Amino acid sequence: MKYSYCPKCGGSLRLNENKELSKPLCSVCGFVFYQNPSVGVAMILIRNGKVLLGRKRGRYSGQWCVPCGYVEWGEDVYEAAKREMLEETGLRIELTSLYTVSSLYGEPYVGTEWYNPEQQSVMIWFLSKETGGELRAGDDIDQVGYFSYEELPRIAFPAHEIVIHKLLEEQLIS
Ligand SMILES: [Zn+2]
Repeated sequence: MKYSYCPKCGGSLRLNENKELSKPLCSVCGFVFYQNPSVGVAMILIRNGKVLLGRKRGRYSGQWCVPCGYVEWGEDVYEAAKREMLEETGLRIELTSLYTVSSLYGEPYVGTEWYNPEQQSVMIWFLSKETGGELRAGDDIDQVGYFSYEELPRIAFPAHEIVIHKLLEEQLIS
C-alpha cells in the first residue's frame, strides 16, 4: 500500500481484507481510496499515407509521438481529444472512429525506462479528420510533421510504436 493517510480526513488507511482486490479504506470516515489508471487520448491523423507526429519537449525531448494527452477531471473523452489536438498541433479535428485502446502498464513496459508502476494509464486511440486550424507545434510539442513508416523519427513511447506499426500492417499508412 503506497498511501498511509486518508485524503479526506487524514485518518489512517488500512486494507479492506474482505475484498478480493483490496482497496485502502479509511479507518475513520470509511473513504475508499481507489487507485485507477489515468485516461489518455491519442489522435491519429493521416495524410497521403503519412501519420502526423509531434516532437516532445521536456523529459522525452527530441523524441516523437502521436499527438496525445490526458483527459481532465470533469472532461468528456471526445472533447479532451479535440482539445489536446488543438493545443499540440493547432488543428481542429473531427474524430472519425475509435481505433484501439492500450493499457500503458505491464508488457511491453516492465524493465524499460517507461515502466512506472506509480503512473498507470489507459490510452484511447482515435482516427481523426482535419476540419480546420493551422498546423503549428504547441504545448509540450516543439515540431510537427507527417511521416511514412520508413521515414519515422525516434518514437518516444513503445505503445506509439506498436500502434504506428498496426497502421502500417492495416495499410492506413505506407
Ligand atoms: Zn477518512
